[in-house]
Amino acid sequence: MVNKQAYEKLTQICGDRGATLVAVSKMKSVADIKALYDLGQRDFGENYVQELVSKKDELPADIRWHYIGHLQSNKVKYIASFVHLVHSIDSEKLLKEVNKQAQKLNRNIPVLLQVHIAREETKFGLDAAEVTKLLEDVANKYPHVTIRGLMGMASFVEDDGQLREEFEGLKALYDRLQPDYSFTTLSMGMSGDYALAMQCGSNMVRIGSLLFGARNPI
Ligand SMILES: *Cc1c(COP(=O)(O)O)cnc(C)c1O
Repeated sequence: MVNKQAYEKLTQICGDRGATLVAVSKMKSVADIKALYDLGQRDFGENYVQELVSKKDELPADIRWHYIGHLQSNKVKYIASFVHLVHSIDSEKLLKEVNKQAQKLNRNIPVLLQVHIAREETKFGLDAAEVTKLLEDVANKYPHVTIRGLMGMASFVEDDGQLREEFEGLKALYDRLQPDYSFTTLSMGMSGDYALAMQCGSNMVRIGSLLFGARNPI
């Protein structure tokens, strides 16, 4: 089920702030995605390769698919032909594979580097030093990928002070690197923390449960 009111509010807020709304549709049905599409949404985010590939074929071709989940190198080939933006690059190995698959298809794939900003151990991503090093190491090496910016997931807590610290840390890193690498995209903020993320400078939010309702645990 799609929450139309939440969608309208979010498109308004994102429009005012010049931010892109990515509707996170993992574990949601093709019918729900189509319902949001019919309200005008075009950017959708998925976390699982298999699920994305099978849904994509049943949905309109002008959807911009964002890959936001952990990506294994051996699965890149399944999404390389159509993915709009990969948010979750966390190693040179993965970047190299995306470049290789993009080259085969004679296209360029835009990506973000995923930065570990949460205090929790379980979230994937690079730390600030690793981001800087990766950017230096790969400069001009992979012409079929464009690193557009950074993505981060804050801790799963309700402590606004801590969330703000994490988002501001990522924004500071983004601002430091942006001039040298012509970054355009800072992807941070989910259903529970998007407002704070935007206050802290996010220009792309990834929203699932607010739009589609809670996901059933698997
Ligand atoms: C699931 C997910 C989201 C959306 O989470 P909600 O809390 O449902 O908005 C955003 N980003 C990533 C990386 C996710 O895995």
